[in-house]
Parts: sequence; C-alpha cells; structure tokens
Amino acid sequence: MMVDFSELLKEARRHKYAVGSFNVYNYETIRGVIDAGQELGYPLIVAFAEGYLNNMDMDEVYALVHAMAHKSSIPVVLHLDHCKSFENIVKAIRAGFTSVMFDGSSLPFEENIKKTAEVVAIAHAVDVSVEAELGALAGGEFSNEEAGDEVYSIGTVHGMYKGTPRIDVEVLKKIAARIDIPLVLHGGSGTPEETIRECIRNGIAKINVNTEISYYTVEQVKVLLQSGKSYHLSQLALKEVGYVREVVTKYAKIFRSA
Ligand SMILES: [Zn+2]
Repeated sequence: MMVDFSELLKEARRHKYAVGSFNVYNYETIRGVIDAGQELGYPLIVAFAEGYLNNMDMDEVYALVHAMAHKSSIPVVLHLDHCKSFENIVKAIRAGFTSVMFDGSSLPFEENIKKTAEVVAIAHAVDVSVEAELGALAGGEFSNEEAGDEVYSIGTVHGMYKGTPRIDVEVLKKIAARIDIPLVLHGGSGTPEETIRECIRNGIAKINVNTEISYYTVEQVKVLLQSGKSYHLSQLALKEVGYVREVVTKYAKIFRSA
C-alpha cells in the first residue's frame, strides 16, 4: 500500500530506526526495491530524482510503484528525490508522489530558504510532505549528483567515499536536540555500519541509498557478461532485479536494527 511520508518518518524517529530511501530508474530497480521490502516486512521509500527524467517520466514511475505497492503488504512511499525545478515538483505532486525534495543547495542560503518555503506552501496545501537541503553535500566517487561548493553536511558525501568517511555525530546531536522533525542522511552508500547506527540513534529517520544500487548492479552485470555465457535481455533484467534486491536488503537490515 502507498502511505504518507511524514507519518512513517515520525514513527521511525520516535522508535529509533530509519526508513531507507532507495533510488529507482526503471522497472527493474522499482521491482528490486519493493521486493526487498516485502521480503523483510520493512516499509520503504522508493525515490525518483528529476535527474532521471530521461529514463522515465513521473506518471510512469507512479503507475509502476502504485501497481506494485498495491500488491504488497508493506507501506511504500513514493518520493521525489533531489529536484531543483519548481515545475517538476508540481508535476510530481500531480502524478501522485507522496513527498518531494526541493534541492536549493546551489542557491545562496537565504534564497534557498525562501524558495523552500514556497515549495512547502504549495505541497502542504495538498498534503504532500517536503524534504529540503539547507546547506550542501560534497561529491564522492561514482555519484550522479552535483557537489556543493560550500559544504554544511555532517560529513557524508554523495557517492562512494574516496577514503575513510569522517562523520560528525556531535553536530547531528546538536541539531537533533533543537528540532524534533525527522532528519535525513544523504550519501548512505558505503557509510560504515556502526556510523549509520549511531546516526539513527541520534535522530536520523531517513537514509538515502543511490550510488551503491547502481554501482553494485553494474559490477555484477559485468561479471555475468564476462563469463562468456550469453543472456537474453529478459534474463539479464531479472538478474538486475536480484542485484538491486541484495543491496536494498543489506541496508534495510542495518537501518531497522540501530
Ligand atoms: Zn542526496
């Protein structure tokens, strides 16, 4: 079933677990994410970013997620990840997304806050939740996302880490002590398990995983193709579903057991 983002996250923060937000780009990734959640009985967020609009449009993503969520017994949220365009936010809301992220991180801070408030006003009018990026994240390896010039995050990066990640949990503690809204950690890929758990214990209720879904699946497909055996595209597609499911399962187990 499809559910509202904010209730799910408030519940997560209250009970100190995190809901995984997993990026999808096509049928195979959507299927892999929802199958993993179904298998574990774990609610999750299917995330689609405006950067992948060349792969699918909002209506298509909604139709697939809605059809699969309808058949599954777990709560599923359809979230618009990183979106810079006001127009695309409106399109996602109209298509049926249950939450949206406005990414004004490339704007000057004051302007980002102003634009974010505008998005909140229109989204809340129709009961859609909003996530915002006030500050910016650095870019790591294999990331498909833009890196910020000024970095205000607690130390996670978009993509895989180039060295050992240094996550400032003290900053997180201070933020969490001041506000009770659920906090989000971007750049889940490659973050050490213990660090993830510590972040969850200190207020993080949503964790994004994107890069590793793509990276792991592509690497596994490479291995398959190099084996010399030839595959029909339909078989390869099912293999992809399986690889995506493996990554999602790995993270889901960590997120729910902080
Ligand atoms: Zn992100």
